[in-house]
Amino acid sequence: MIHLSSDLTYPTQCPACGTIEVTGQVRFAGAVTIARANCPVCGIAFYQTLPNGQFNRFPIAVSTDGRAVRAARRGRWLVKLVMNCGAVFENEGNRPALAQTCSIINSTLGTSVPDVLLLFCLDDCYGHALMMLFNAQRHYEQPQRRTVPNRPIIAVVPRALAWLVPDYVAETWVVDQPIASLDRAVSGFDRFVKQQLKRFGTVWFSKGHIHFDHRTTRFADFTRTRKFELPQFDQGVTRHITFVLREDRLWLRSGSERWLYRACQRLGFLPKTHALWVRWQVHRYRQLANHLRQTYPTCQITITGLTNSRITGFDGLIDDRRQPAPLPTEQERTWCAQYARSHVVVGVHGSGMLLPTSLAAGFVNLLPPDKLPHYAEDVLLAHENPIHQTLLGRFLPTSASPRQVAALIASMLTEFPVWLAEERERG
Ligand SMILES: [Zn+2]
Repeated sequence: MIHLSSDLTYPTQCPACGTIEVTGQVRFAGAVTIARANCPVCGIAFYQTLPNGQFNRFPIAVSTDGRAVRAARRGRWLVKLVMNCGAVFENEGNRPALAQTCSIINSTLGTSVPDVLLLFCLDDCYGHALMMLFNAQRHYEQPQRRTVPNRPIIAVVPRALAWLVPDYVAETWVVDQPIASLDRAVSGFDRFVKQQLKRFGTVWFSKGHIHFDHRTTRFADFTRTRKFELPQFDQGVTRHITFVLREDRLWLRSGSERWLYRACQRLGFLPKTHALWVRWQVHRYRQLANHLRQTYPTCQITITGLTNSRITGFDGLIDDRRQPAPLPTEQERTWCAQYARSHVVVGVHGSGMLLPTSLAAGFVNLLPPDKLPHYAEDVLLAHENPIHQTLLGRFLPTSASPRQVAALIASMLTEFPVWLAEERERG
C-alpha cells in the first residue's frame, strides 16, 4: 500500500526527458488513478499511473498528447486506457453537470476517521476487479498478524461486485455503472472521492494486486457460500454437473467457425446473426448433455449464465436457470449455491468461471487457441492437496467434441471416488 499525501500529490518521472521527482496531482478516473504533472525541464504535460491492479506490473507514463510514452512492451495496450481516462481532466471547466454515479453503502465509519485504507476494485475486466477485491482479506488479516496497524478498509467496487464485499470491510463505495464501461473515466468520480477523503486523516491506497495465493483466500468471505466438501464427492447416486454459459463467449470448435464469428463482429453483422450463433451453442451443449447422460446416466445437469436472447432448446434435458442481465443479487447467491453442490462445472474460458470454479469440486474449462497463454486466469479452484487440483481441474481445447468433453467429465466422476476410497483405506 502507498500513503496518499494530504495534498494529494504524487512523485512522477517525465516520460519525455526522464526528469524525476516531478510533483503530480492525483486524479481519480475510475479504473485508472493517475498523477498529472507538468515537467519543469521539457515543459510537457503528462499522466503517470499509481500502482493499482494491472498498473503494478505495467506502470504507464504518457504525455497528454500521447507522443511521449514510458511503458513496458507488454503493457503498451494500457496506454490508450490511460489516455482515455486522463483526457476527462483536460477541459474540466467545460464539463457538464456530473451524474450521480457513486454511492456509499454498508458504512460503519463515522464522519471523522484518523486512518483508512482505500481498496479500489475498478477494472473493465470482471476478473481483474474481483481479484482486486480479494485483497480485502489480506488487508483484514495483516493487523491480526501485527504486520501492519489496524485500518478500516473502504472498498470501491462496480455495482456488479457490491454483493461480494466481505462483512469486515468498513465502508463500500459503489460505482453504479456496468463493468465494461470502466474503460472510460467515471463521470464525477474524482470529485466524489476527493469530497469523501476530507473525512479522513491519513489515507492509504491499496495496490490491489491481481495475483494471489488461491489456497489462502477464503472465497466464502466473499460469496458467503461454503464450497463443495470433497469427502462428499462419492456420496449418494446423483452427480451434479453445471454448464456455465454466456452468449458472447461461445463454444466454437473449428477455426472456420471462429473466423466467421470474428468476421460477423468486424463487419457489424453480429446483432443480426446473434440468435443463430446462440442456437448453435445451445445445440452443442445439448449434444454434450446427451453424451453425458449416455456415459454417466445419474447426472443431473443444470445451466446457469446470462441470456438476453432467452433462446432455450434444452427440452427438459437440462435444468435451465439462465437469467437476463442485470442479475439480481439473490440470483447470484442462488447460482453460487448451485456451484457449491456441483461435482463439475463446465464452461468456455471467459464465460464467467471464476466464482463457479471457486465453489465446485471440479471443472472443465474449454480453451480457445488465443487463450492458451491465459489459461489460469479464468479459474479459482483451490484444493489444498495438489493431487486434488490435478484430478479435478481440467482444461480442454474448444476444438474438443461434445463426446470427448462428456468422456472427460465421466472419467472425473468415476476416477476421483476411486482415489478417495484408496485415501480412506490408507487412513
Ligand atoms: Zn520532461
